[in-house]
Amino acid sequence: MSKKAVVLLSGGLDSATCLAIAGSEGFECYALSFAYGQRNGCELEAARHVAASLGVAAHTLIEIDLRKWGGSALTDNIDVPDRKDLDLNSIPVTYVPARNLIFLSLATGYAEALGARDIFIGVNSVDFSGYPDCRPRFIEAFQKCATIGTKAEGEGWSFNIHTPLQTLNKAEIIKRGTALGVDYSLTRTCYNPSKEGFACGKCDSCHLRRAGFAEAGVKDPTPYA
Ligand code: ZN
Repeated sequence: MSKKAVVLLSGGLDSATCLAIAGSEGFECYALSFAYGQRNGCELEAARHVAASLGVAAHTLIEIDLRKWGGSALTDNIDVPDRKDLDLNSIPVTYVPARNLIFLSLATGYAEALGARDIFIGVNSVDFSGYPDCRPRFIEAFQKCATIGTKAEGEGWSFNIHTPLQTLNKAEIIKRGTALGVDYSLTRTCYNPSKEGFACGKCDSCHLRRAGFAEAGVKDPTPYA
């Protein structure tokens, strides 16, 4: 019997690759997506397509309205900046307060209920927007926190938070996913897509994605506006 893993799936390029890697490592994958009031809601439809194409055991969607307090260009009435206008030394306004802390907490609850000890998250600290909740130090601390805050510690086991993309650049992620059969035309990454779901081509996320395909020598299937 294969081991169960909860895999966070946004519908973007990174999480799709992360899901494919989890499957390739023999895990039975339970994909978890969040409708959190994000501006780029079309990524949820992408998540459904990605989950179906990679063959998950289940795909669960949880609704949590982070617009209640906003504080981010993705969840509030704040414009998404163009990459060219970003100060690359500070945390950009597309950072969603504590998003990965919230998502990983819910994923831990789901995993504990499922009897899974493994959680996959596609965080990356090479080609990323500088978010604090993508750094290895956060993941290490969360893994301890999840173990202490559940039945795990008393039962003598610990959660494993897998971050297979942590040290890969975007081109390496795309090459890895392509080798594993990820259909990137299904994924959506843009922070500020049009109503029809076309990528803006100007935000930091579009910039990293486009540059990654170019460097990987893989045709970029993204529909740009
Ligand atoms: Zn964009």
